[in-house]
Amino acid sequence: MAPAGYQHRYLDNDIVELPVGKVVCVGRNYARHIEELKNKTPKEPVLFIKPASSIVSLEKPLTLPKDKGACHFETELALLIGDPNTDSPLPGSNTCIAGYGLGLDLTLRDIQEQLKVEGLPWEKAKAFDGACVISPFVKPDVIEDVQSIQLRLTQNGTIRQDSNTASMITPVSTLLAYINTWFTLQPGDIVLTGTPEGVGPLESGDRLEVELVGLCRFQTRVNWKR
Ligand code: ZN
Repeated sequence: MAPAGYQHRYLDNDIVELPVGKVVCVGRNYARHIEELKNKTPKEPVLFIKPASSIVSLEKPLTLPKDKGACHFETELALLIGDPNTDSPLPGSNTCIAGYGLGLDLTLRDIQEQLKVEGLPWEKAKAFDGACVISPFVKPDVIEDVQSIQLRLTQNGTIRQDSNTASMITPVSTLLAYINTWFTLQPGDIVLTGTPEGVGPLESGDRLEVELVGLCRFQTRVNWKR
């Protein structure tokens, strides 16, 4: 169960009649982000999961843990997995998509670095309560080409991330097929497709503007957890 009333919604505020499931995330899917974190380019997609309990709405202020080191934003295209009875497959794939939105893959970067050095799983850095911030979804018929969507995050008036899904190493249709060989995607699951370059730390008081350029735009604020 997702915490405190999170429910999938469309931009027009219609509730999406799908359960809230797991979130399958893709790491290292944009070359310049791999460079900025000095990671190696993977031979196959890097996958990890955020549980439903980590999901919060981008329409509410973000509440971050204060005592766990740097918490980075990662702006990502989010796909809402649909129901074959009501939704159509993404062209070139057999996976149905009910909507396209924005995800912030919040990451406790200091803790992640420490876990990586120790050879331990990332989970605590990526799956904590509130670590998966999800916007309302754009309906699929509005999207002409999933590989030409511009993602942008502005922090206190300064653009930090501004890149296009055309720069993905593994495109969405290939990602979905790959994910399904490991973790079956079910209606109501979300896929986060990786972040482009420009990630950075959040601070209490930050004003964020996040957008799929020309499709949807959201504003939120950042607070420390009390
Ligand atoms: Zn990410």
